[in-house]
Amino acid sequence: MKREREILKNIFGYDEFRTLQMEIITSILNKKDALVVMPTGGGKSLCYQLPALIFNGLTVVVSPLISLMKDQVDQMTQLGVDAILLNSSISRPEYYENINQIREGKVKLLYVAPETLLKNDILEFLESVNVECFAIDEAHCISEWGHDFRPEYRKIAHVRKRFPGAVCIALTATATARVRSDIRKNLELNESNDFVASFNRGNLFYKIIPKDNPLEQTLEFLKQFKNESGIIYCFSRDGVDRLYLNLKKQRYSVRPYHAGLSDEERQENQDLFLRDEVQIMVATIAFGMGIHKTNVRYVIHFDLPKSIEAYYQETGRAGRDGVDSTCLLLYSYSDIHKIRYFIDQKSDAEEKKAAMAQLNALVDYADTSGCRRIPLITYFGEEYNEVYCGMCDNCVSPEEHIDDITIPAQMFLSCVKRSGERFGAGHIIDILRGSKSKKINDFNHQTLSTYGIGKKYSKDIWMKLVRQFVKQKLILNDTENAGVLKLTEKAYNVMKGAESVTGSIHEDKKRNFSNSGTKEYDSELFEILREKRRELAASGNVPPYVIFSDKTLFEIASLYPQSHESLLKIHGIGAYKIEKYGDILLSIIIEYCSSHGIGKNSELPKMKMYLKTPRHIEIGELYNSGISISEIAQKEEIQPRTIIDHLFRYIQDGGSIRKDLLVPLIPSDEKYLSSIIEAFKRVGTEKLKPVFEELNGTVEYDTINICRLYYLSRE
Ligand code: ADP
Ligand code: ZN
Repeated sequence: MKREREILKNIFGYDEFRTLQMEIITSILNKKDALVVMPTGGGKSLCYQLPALIFNGLTVVVSPLISLMKDQVDQMTQLGVDAILLNSSISRPEYYENINQIREGKVKLLYVAPETLLKNDILEFLESVNVECFAIDEAHCISEWGHDFRPEYRKIAHVRKRFPGAVCIALTATATARVRSDIRKNLELNESNDFVASFNRGNLFYKIIPKDNPLEQTLEFLKQFKNESGIIYCFSRDGVDRLYLNLKKQRYSVRPYHAGLSDEERQENQDLFLRDEVQIMVATIAFGMGIHKTNVRYVIHFDLPKSIEAYYQETGRAGRDGVDSTCLLLYSYSDIHKIRYFIDQKSDAEEKKAAMAQLNALVDYADTSGCRRIPLITYFGEEYNEVYCGMCDNCVSPEEHIDDITIPAQMFLSCVKRSGERFGAGHIIDILRGSKSKKINDFNHQTLSTYGIGKKYSKDIWMKLVRQFVKQKLILNDTENAGVLKLTEKAYNVMKGAESVTGSIHEDKKRNFSNSGTKEYDSELFEILREKRRELAASGNVPPYVIFSDKTLFEIASLYPQSHESLLKIHGIGAYKIEKYGDILLSIIIEYCSSHGIGKNSELPKMKMYLKTPRHIEIGELYNSGISISEIAQKEEIQPRTIIDHLFRYIQDGGSIRKDLLVPLIPSDEKYLSSIIEAFKRVGTEKLKPVFEELNGTVEYDTINICRLYYLSRE
């Protein structure tokens, strides 16, 4: 592996292999076929690019999109690797020039479109040179079950047979088992050579907020992403146009993208975005396939996506370079109704059912009060064992409302019962809220004793309650039968008053936008470097991220390397890039450092930089420095209850917190206090509810919560 490591550092400029890369590369070098399934940004390309540099002969990369091929060839060229492409977009002289280069053995990597590869003269030509490896990129195109089936891809299987000495590596980011087995079957790959990476994208921060004033919420969000690239997805073309105009009016650097624009307009807008000349792309889902821009710092879903898969794909376009990026979803019940309406229009019952199940999974994801990664990752059939990721809104600021919702539950359940367990949530809510709709009239429901008893709560609150009732198994939601609600055993206990229900009855609070934490880099230097990069990119006619990734610039702007040796330690800088750009970079950095009084040895230790400090750690440190909970609450404008939650997580993460500042907050009656602490000793500190029950509901949650902290704190 010594040689491989050397190439990794010298050519690609990376210190370590990512998960599975080394195993895959070894397999390819041993001429064992491989199927590689990795999420976007996982580092698939390296798995064939690196072996290509070791093989004596040629590596042929089949890729479905011309823009991707060009991107990769640019990237390889920037690393000093001989790579070329053959497809219908290049001129005749260039085509022959490229063929000549291959013949002379000057090329390591050849990128071809499938239809070009299938041409007989090309195949004969390739047979005359030493092809060592076929890399089939976007291999899901082989499968009719994939989202992008391409018939030409099917024929690649025959091509393989003509090159018995060449190893085959197929790569995709599509996780479904069906697509995987299709690829395997078609290319005659052995199952034992599957390499499937985790689909968890650790650098993406997931955040969901209730959509009440989407434009204002978007503008607020954008404030913290000045100068950074992002995509905003809207449901319709119309929506795209409106938001685009609004953002333009606010002087944002923005362009629209949807199928209603001309090809030229779309191409132009996309190019501007790729080249960092336009910051924001407002788009329908037509935008994104094959966009390899690595420095997309955020993706906003202005409207609800149609499934978890779609959401995962679309948010996945953020943070390919591994730098932290944010995914914001504006979530509203009316969007759910809108999508439900579209699903209802479908005539095929099977299709309807599948679409409804997908939507419901997305709603569960949005409604979860736990870590967002749990529903997201397990949806793809992967186990996810962490309880706390520190990179989603729920983990960073848990808003644990614990209210007694027994009374609204009783209202709702008895209304379901009285109307005969024949209706969906919408109608039940209409009865409770005393609606005068025709349906109510038709069924004579204005005469029910539950008619109008729930006016106090808005429709949205009721919907929120209903989802909690479903989750707590008080009612069953029969999605196949138009969402008719049925009561469970537990529901009868609640109606009788034998069981109480707890949950949240509050309107979702507006959440603070900032992810918290600071990026530890010098933003002034970063901007200077970014400007330089743009210049270099323009003169080389390539996208900026091909020259240096954002991550490279972040590292420079926090480590201040002032010599060739220290520059070589930077992520993404290898021998070739040093030669080409080293002096330009050094002159900028040295000048910057001397004018800012930054010494030669000012390098920060190389730690997990620019990963924002999780909120609970910040709060924990703040508290331990001697600032009381109420002072922090005031300063940070958050609820004391939230701070207590943060401190608890801080302890869960292995931290310890000081006892003294808690003393004024706990019950002064010692006997009372020790009865609570004894309860924790009996049932554990993991959850509050068991303790609440252990104490027969005599102590309030807030008190239990602070006592837990006290119990776990240290002198
Ligand atoms: P994919 O094709 O799986 O979406 P890429 O191959 O484009 O992902 O890689 C995503 C990013 O990660 C690229 O910027 C790439 O240079 C970078 N990368 C790949 N392997 C490594 C590694 N071992 N260390 C650091 N960065 C890497
Ligand atoms: Zn989380």
